[in-house]
Amino acid sequence: MRSSCEVVIVGSGFAGSLLARLLAVIGYDVVLLERGSHPRFAIGESSTPLANLSLERIGIRYGLEDCYQLATHGRWVEHFPNLRRGLKRGFTFYRHHPGQPVESDALTAERLLVAASPNDELSDSHWLRADVDHHFVREAVAAGVDYRDQVEVSSAEFRAQEVILTGTCDTIPFELSARFVIDASGPGGFLARQLSIPSALARTHTRSSLLYGHFDGARMMADVVPELPAGPYPDDWAAVHHIVDEGWMYSLRFDDGVTSAGFLLTPGATASLEVAAGDPQSMWRSLLRRYPILDNAFGGAAPTMPIAYRTAIQHRLSRAGGERWALMPHAFAFVDPLFSTGIAWSLRAVERLALAFESVATRQRVPGPDFIDHYARALSAEANQIDLVVAGAYEAMKHFELFAAQAMLYFAAVSFAEASQRLAPSDSVAWSGFLGVGDPVLNDLPAAAFERLRRITRSEERSDSEGERREFVDWITRAIEPRNIAGLADPSRANLYPVDFEALVDGHDRLGMSRSQVLSALPRLRGMSPPPDFSGGGSGRNFDLARKPEALPFFSVGEDATQRRQQESGNGAS
Ligand SMILES: Cc1cc2nc3c(=O)[nH]c(=O)nc-3n(C[C@H](O)[C@H](O)[C@H](O)COP(=O)(O)OP(=O)(O)OC[C@H]3O[C@@H](n4cnc5c(N)ncnc54)[C@H](O)[C@@H]3O)c2cc1C
Repeated sequence: MRSSCEVVIVGSGFAGSLLARLLAVIGYDVVLLERGSHPRFAIGESSTPLANLSLERIGIRYGLEDCYQLATHGRWVEHFPNLRRGLKRGFTFYRHHPGQPVESDALTAERLLVAASPNDELSDSHWLRADVDHHFVREAVAAGVDYRDQVEVSSAEFRAQEVILTGTCDTIPFELSARFVIDASGPGGFLARQLSIPSALARTHTRSSLLYGHFDGARMMADVVPELPAGPYPDDWAAVHHIVDEGWMYSLRFDDGVTSAGFLLTPGATASLEVAAGDPQSMWRSLLRRYPILDNAFGGAAPTMPIAYRTAIQHRLSRAGGERWALMPHAFAFVDPLFSTGIAWSLRAVERLALAFESVATRQRVPGPDFIDHYARALSAEANQIDLVVAGAYEAMKHFELFAAQAMLYFAAVSFAEASQRLAPSDSVAWSGFLGVGDPVLNDLPAAAFERLRRITRSEERSDSEGERREFVDWITRAIEPRNIAGLADPSRANLYPVDFEALVDGHDRLGMSRSQVLSALPRLRGMSPPPDFSGGGSGRNFDLARKPEALPFFSVGEDATQRRQQESGNGAS
């Protein structure tokens, strides 16, 4: 191990290795440290349009062809057939009830499909993380990153001009001096321990545990319940969410037939499973037995790895950055896989940090306190927002109409962000807030929805709760209207939402554009614009720092609604 570098990144998931590579392309001397080695199993597989937009922007800005090609399923299959992935056309939700027979058509009434792409070619993908993360590490090494695996970092000492990391690499002790350290080591990350960053978990609402695995031979819902009416895409080629009394189950099908599946269980749910918590196999079987449709789909599937159980998967720190250090989102906070926010949020942070380093590359070399403070506040506000959207959805799970309405909040925020970013691309897009943070319409909505949902679910014994539920659905419909450019919350759709270009064109005012401006930009959304020029080899070698803006385009974080409410009610956690 060498003794010094400019930037050290700890953790080589896709976020750490991609950021390391971008910094190397910009001209930094980067060391990437990994505790394990690649390829390795990792969870967090379902990508989204916002994640793919980030990947495309990264590919184009830094001249990295693979990032661009991996951003749609069609290009991925054509250019990287060996990296395993799954077609993800959208988000599928069903509500299951204990004992509900397989032949029941009740699923039709409690089913929600929201397309995320107009066709298979432009579709998102599930990432087989063992392959994808390994790819990004290899590319980081090719870009000049000094990558070391089998590393145990035992201490980080912050001095005036440097950070000193000590530890072992392949059992051999090392001491490494860096000007900046980025923690991309995921939950329980090493900087949290080294800097004793206090937990801020008490500030959040979502609580779930996880029972999960990869399976061979899971049956498609289209085969288990063939009478389901046709939706905007085949139900199974999506992130499939099965809502159950105990929480929900995800099912992500890879193109090679392997399925990643897991139950997210609410506190107390495991007690009703009549098995000892901690015996994942029997918990899995017991849950399937309660839901015959799920049993039919998964009962005969063979785990390709031991089924695993993790209690309380949420974590949240009180700060995401400081002098000479920054945390990647997954080291800072994790809420729940509902709505697949993790990859998109992580890639947004990769973009932001790369832009920050880029903007100071010719002078002070590492981002100063102003930037880090802004980055940290943004991550904090965004973590709160994700938590509120997801916690609201958990509150709503008992009543499918409530759940579907809460989901509209998520889909309105992300489809508006996607359309705005695609129709009017700009370098500064990475600085806009995630999930409506900083948006005058959307910023406070998740908090308001969560409070309303709590009031409804707690007053269920009252005779008017059905009316309250109807009122919530109407309220969400009105509240998202200024950002609803996707024809969402439309009862005539019967919960089946295709990608609706007509609604987008009709919503031109909401995007601040004229009808003809939207019409002329539509080919970009239909994937009909010419591919970027990667004639420099697509490996970042043509990146030209001199043409980059010096100024840092600070983004709008917006007010932190949760913190404000807590302060108003006198129990503000800092
Ligand atoms: C159950 C579950 C399901 C999820 N599903 C989705 C989903 O469908 N879609 C989505 O977008 N997101 C999902 N996520 C979130 C997603 O997993 C994360 O956003 C993503 O993994 C973040 O990637 P990363 O590279 O930052 O960190 P990680 O993938 O966590 O990688 C961290 C790396 O750091 C290494 N490391 C750890 N400690 C050290 C150390 N001390 N020193 C050196 N190296 C270290 C690890 O070995 C690992 O390689 C899910 C998360 C969970 C828990």
